[in-house]
Amino acid sequence: MPRRKIAAGNWKMNKNYDDALQLIRDISATNPPKEIHTVLAVPSIYLKNGVDMLMHIIGLDVAAQNCHQEPSGAYTGEISASMLSSISVPYVVIGHSERREYFHENSQQLASKVDVALSNGLQVIFCCGESLDIRKSGNHVPHVCKQIRESLFHLSDDQWSNVIIAYEPIWAIGTGETASPEQAQEMHQALRTMIANEKSSNIAENVSILYGGSVKPANAKDIFTGEDVDGALVGGASLNADGFKEIMDALARS
Ligand code: PEP
Repeated sequence: MPRRKIAAGNWKMNKNYDDALQLIRDISATNPPKEIHTVLAVPSIYLKNGVDMLMHIIGLDVAAQNCHQEPSGAYTGEISASMLSSISVPYVVIGHSERREYFHENSQQLASKVDVALSNGLQVIFCCGESLDIRKSGNHVPHVCKQIRESLFHLSDDQWSNVIIAYEPIWAIGTGETASPEQAQEMHQALRTMIANEKSSNIAENVSILYGGSVKPANAKDIFTGEDVDGALVGGASLNADGFKEIMDALARS
């Protein structure tokens, strides 16, 4: 799939049912721009509403925030990639730093999640990013490159066409602190160069790389100036329809 401009919202574990439905209605009322691709990662309990309302009525896409690495089985409380696909969910977020930290998901497990998601026809939004300590040590680029190598480099060229990368420095997630446009561009360019050198220039040119970490209406335009920044994965600011609309518009104009 060729490089696309993507605004992805991540609702995380927020919004009770009525509020979630209201947010969907509010987003619809903002008339989201058609020139970009918009994906909303809603809590799994609302995925079917997301498919029925966001996709079929509003024309936006829906993502799950996670899936299990096994195809099925005795994993109480978990959701499989084939279940997502059976209700027509097109995307799944894999490797979010909150999953890596709180649920101890490692690169090998994430590689298995990517495999099971792709084999069930899902598109993967794969998250990577460094902690503040790693950023301060100056090893952020090798660290994030390693995350990508370990979980994605076994994929074929065809499989890569269903992968989107989201670079999310952990120190910028939910903290109000954003990477500067230069810091975001530096990492996105480094990832694209590594993919070109070690996989293929075709994959590197076509993979969409999103930035995530306290993106909001006030900083979106600047973040999107980066040549290798194809969009954003937005947490907190995606919970407000008007704010998210400003981010979508900034991306559409970039
Ligand atoms: C996220 O959860 O992916 C994220 C980037 O959150 P926030 O925008 O709130 O920093």
